[in-house]
Amino acid sequence: MRIGIDLGGTKLEAIALDEAGSELVRRRSATPAGDYGATIRAITGLVGEIERGLGRRGTVGVGMPGAISPATGLVKNANSVWLLGKAFHRDLAAALGRPVRVANDANCFAVSEAVDGAAAGAAVVFGVILGTGVGGGVAIRGRALDGANAIAGEWGHNPLPWPRDDEAPGPPCYCGKRGCIETWLSGPGGFGYGDNDDGTTLADMLDGIRAGRIKALYAIGENPLGTLPASAGVREALSGLDLLVAQDAFLTDTGAMAHVVLPAALAAEKDGTFLDGHGRLQPVVRALDAKGEARPDWAIVAEIANATR
Ligand SMILES: [Zn+2]
Repeated sequence: MRIGIDLGGTKLEAIALDEAGSELVRRRSATPAGDYGATIRAITGLVGEIERGLGRRGTVGVGMPGAISPATGLVKNANSVWLLGKAFHRDLAAALGRPVRVANDANCFAVSEAVDGAAAGAAVVFGVILGTGVGGGVAIRGRALDGANAIAGEWGHNPLPWPRDDEAPGPPCYCGKRGCIETWLSGPGGFGYGDNDDGTTLADMLDGIRAGRIKALYAIGENPLGTLPASAGVREALSGLDLLVAQDAFLTDTGAMAHVVLPAALAAEKDGTFLDGHGRLQPVVRALDAKGEARPDWAIVAEIANATR
């Protein structure tokens, strides 16, 4: 049995495969961000849970952010910064009591796509990652290309090509430089680290729900079940919520599975403004009375705020 671990910045996922490569079980938990010891314990916990459940012992491989530096034997280039400078592969091997294979997650991804994914059969594959971090990997004839510094294919810490004056020097990056592509394009980066420190993207929210960190979701004018691809696993994620509230002008797919549906007024049924296709603010004057119990979005939010303060 082989156990593969995907160590991400926000989530930790493990899969066990039998000798034929068929999935036996899959487990997921939140990554204890910022805590190295807890990260090692979370991985050994997942492995132990899987092995107890199946009554078998497996080999363990980990796809992780960053790389083990060939020069120092320690983790470098990881956007999960609490791993930096640690002998992660040795510490994990000691904790699990067996040898562990560790590889850069982007390289694992490139190899996976090259073997039986979107690039199956291609001789040279560049896999691009846009997530919590910005990275990439290169696979040549189905094998990862590490490169002399174990960073082949990494493009997230190059500067923006042709930056405008207001984009230089750019936001600070954990790597010590400024304006790296990762600070502009990554999930937490969004529109730059500085602008969006407390923000959470929709993908992050879905991850948070799966990991049990988010228990309730209040969707206003958003229908993730109808707008995201089936591969995003939205229905499965939303069904894990303790409370799903959908506020929209129509009963959407998301609304149909919500615990509470709040009917919102249409644009023609309220006064206000909206952004037109050219990005200009346009006033809207109410032309119709809202039907039934439908109310303007702001009025619903204000009433809930007043009722729950
Ligand atoms: Zn950087």
